[in-house]
Amino acid sequence: MARRIFCNRTLNLRAIRAIGYDMDYTLIHYRVSEWERHAYAHVKRRLIEEKWPIAELEFDENLMIRGLIIDKELGNILKVNRFGFVKRAFHGTKPLDHEKSRETYSRVIVDLAEGRFEFLNTLFSLSEACLYAQLVDRYDQDPNALPGIRGYEQLYKKVRKTTDLAHVEGRLKSEIIADPDRFVDLDPLTPLALLDQKHAGKKLLLITNSEWPYTKAMMNYAFDRYLPGQMSWRELFDVVIVESRKPAFFTNHNPLFEVVNEEGLLRPANEGMKEGHIFLGGHADQVESCLGLVGDQILYVGDHIFSDVHVSKNIQRWRTALILRELEAELEAQQVFEADQRELERLMEDKERLEAELCLVRVDDQRTRVGYGPRSGRTEAQITEQAQRLRALLLELDAKIAPLAKAASEISSGHWGLWMRAGNDKSHLAKQVERYADIYLSRVSHFADETPFVYLRSARGDLPHDPAARTAVGGLLAGG
Ligand code: IMP
Ligand code: MG
Repeated sequence: MARRIFCNRTLNLRAIRAIGYDMDYTLIHYRVSEWERHAYAHVKRRLIEEKWPIAELEFDENLMIRGLIIDKELGNILKVNRFGFVKRAFHGTKPLDHEKSRETYSRVIVDLAEGRFEFLNTLFSLSEACLYAQLVDRYDQDPNALPGIRGYEQLYKKVRKTTDLAHVEGRLKSEIIADPDRFVDLDPLTPLALLDQKHAGKKLLLITNSEWPYTKAMMNYAFDRYLPGQMSWRELFDVVIVESRKPAFFTNHNPLFEVVNEEGLLRPANEGMKEGHIFLGGHADQVESCLGLVGDQILYVGDHIFSDVHVSKNIQRWRTALILRELEAELEAQQVFEADQRELERLMEDKERLEAELCLVRVDDQRTRVGYGPRSGRTEAQITEQAQRLRALLLELDAKIAPLAKAASEISSGHWGLWMRAGNDKSHLAKQVERYADIYLSRVSHFADETPFVYLRSARGDLPHDPAARTAVGGLLAGG
């Protein structure tokens, strides 16, 4: 399962004429614990230089997952379902108990268009969110401990700005370039997938927000060793665009420059993009005119839910593929839990059947006492006795269900459960994946398994009134 490409909207790869790739966490996967620990350390160093007393804080890779939402107003981290309802909440690094969470969020529908909320779009968000949560704890202990900070919102802005600076200053990246073995999780089949696509006649593009020196170093490291003969990654791509400034690349007409030498010297590219060259900045329209292609002939593959798939789909109408490495752990966890999950479903079916029976007994009791409508003809005492028996059976069932339901809510990531689920429903992350990514897969190399000729068909979506979905309720009424 983990090697499959999952399809939200039918995509015939044969009809795709060009494939654009994002680089970081797409073509090149990083060991999250290393990369994010490293980014965290740089942000922390900057804050310590500003006299923040946070020397003992450490990156905790298990604290956050992609798809969570930060409530900047309250210093909370939320897991939200597809309708915007909060299903689980932390204040800083501590879980909010059920009552407190209900009290705070029962009248809130989380809408990402509101400035109050911040979605964790990419694995790059994990270190930032972890540090923010830890600093919320610190702020709660002593509101004067963090210089210049008054409130959770201001704290978020500070962490955001400092993270941003750490990413753009040269030091963080140069340390990665110096020791790629530590940070990069190599995949020999990724270059093969791209070779297959290139030889099948597709134009390939690299569109990354990374700078030229970093892009060059990382692509040399992760690709050249797996390409045939003397081939270099540069020959794979028809156009390379660095510092593309996604999402603005899809929305604003930023100036376009050509990178004219290895050191990254720039020249204005007034005539637009040309195949075989390396550019900086620019706009997605220039990609289309350079290739003579439009919207749905181009597939863009990236890991950032907003910058890579949401905007390219909404504005440019490109076909979109999302890389979700977490799927591998998600599927494995689901597989391990499969037998328990089936047992849980079986118990829930029993519970629904008993509940429905109890409902009928209660309405029978009501009609018998008041004296109206069709009734069973039993005495009130008999009806009461049956209701008590059903309630006792339900209590017994609940005792069996509770530990399984708890375990189900903790599979995959202990604090937050499955990435794509919120309770029994789809998570906010799952909704965004469904809406903006035509297809999703855990790594680019799965394109090699599926070939450049695959016709990916979406499944017929479930609706609550579909026959399969109705079985439980139908059985329940029949049983009642
Ligand atoms: P891409 O995924 O290939 O488009 O590249 C992502 C680039 O964005 C990498 O160079 C990251 O270092 C950089 N990046 C990630 N998060 C931030 C941020 O918060 N501010 C600035 N750059 C970032
Ligand atoms: Mg990326």
